[in-house]
Amino acid sequence: MSSISLVLLAAGDSTRFGLATKKQWLYQEDKPLWLTLLERLQNIYSFEKVIVVANTQELSLMQRFSSVTFIQGGNSRQESLRNALEKIESDFVIVNDIARACVSEEVILRLIEHAKPSGCVAPALKLSDTCYFDGKPIDREKLLRIQTPQLSCVTTLKELLESAAEFTDESSAFYSANKDVIFIEGTQEAHKLTYKEDLKLLPCLKAPANMAKNGFGIDIHSFEEGKPMVLAGVAIESSFGFKAHSDGDVAIHALIDALLGASSLGDIGELFPDNDPTFKGADSKELLQKVATLVKSVGYQIVHCDLTIVAQTPKISPYKKQMQSTLAEILEIGVSAINIKATTAEKLGFIGREEGVAVYATATLNYYRWDRIEKSLEKKEKRR
Ligand code: MG
Repeated sequence: MSSISLVLLAAGDSTRFGLATKKQWLYQEDKPLWLTLLERLQNIYSFEKVIVVANTQELSLMQRFSSVTFIQGGNSRQESLRNALEKIESDFVIVNDIARACVSEEVILRLIEHAKPSGCVAPALKLSDTCYFDGKPIDREKLLRIQTPQLSCVTTLKELLESAAEFTDESSAFYSANKDVIFIEGTQEAHKLTYKEDLKLLPCLKAPANMAKNGFGIDIHSFEEGKPMVLAGVAIESSFGFKAHSDGDVAIHALIDALLGASSLGDIGELFPDNDPTFKGADSKELLQKVATLVKSVGYQIVHCDLTIVAQTPKISPYKKQMQSTLAEILEIGVSAINIKATTAEKLGFIGREEGVAVYATATLNYYRWDRIEKSLEKKEKRR
């Protein structure tokens, strides 16, 4: 009995997808798509080794969900696959792209059934449309659409991927070296998820659960004479600012930690280390923008944020509205989804002695309702 490993390629940036959330992080009930697919494949066959290729920024987040082996993606599909193969010693490997989210059990079993030493097995579909090539109709009977996942002989694939040539799949690498390529019947369900419009063509997808995730953040900074003061992205009239490696926007730092907390992405120090010269004097609005993009990319939508600024000085109330609209604009949510509260410390402690400011923040996230895109597009059409 030959041994088979599984590689799940889930490191893509979903640049053509057109949504803030990446394909791999579209929630299916209470699990991201990559995990749903991984578990389905593992239920079909007992693989010798399972490797998930992840985006560097998402690696530790993915590791929270599963105990399989995760590795960092390369600059291309081929480089990612080459990195994964270094860890594989089984006879065969099945490589599944996250874009083939609805691959069926029958296809996987058919691939395994046709496994051949030094060969590659690939699902293929015939074309039913009339086809033209170079302006002329051609015999569609001779055409095949090749799908993934494909099953390949590991030693041969390792050798083939050492070459400098770039292949779009394993079958074309095997074909280029005159190795066996065996075609099995593919399925329509294995339609490739590339654009958001493809979502409705994938029958196995399930809507995300109604789930609220909550995060909390706190930050404290002391005052520094002669520095401009910025709080919640707004310039405050003051003869002193905050002592910090960045611009010292203590409100945005607390909010960033709340967002990272709700999305299980760690904390601000892990993302933007204060000993990293890149972030010296950094504009915290830009850091917040980066964090909002990251949080959305891994499957969340920002629902509500609440900040409490504890300051004896400066007086916050004249700036509240501007803070609210500044943060709402960066996070791309309505102003009603941002609440700013201010309080003094009744002259107690370091805040009361006017030595610094503390900010507490909470953030509430929901799983991104990708299943409602169609409806929101319809509404926009009607309003026109
Ligand atoms: Mg800070």
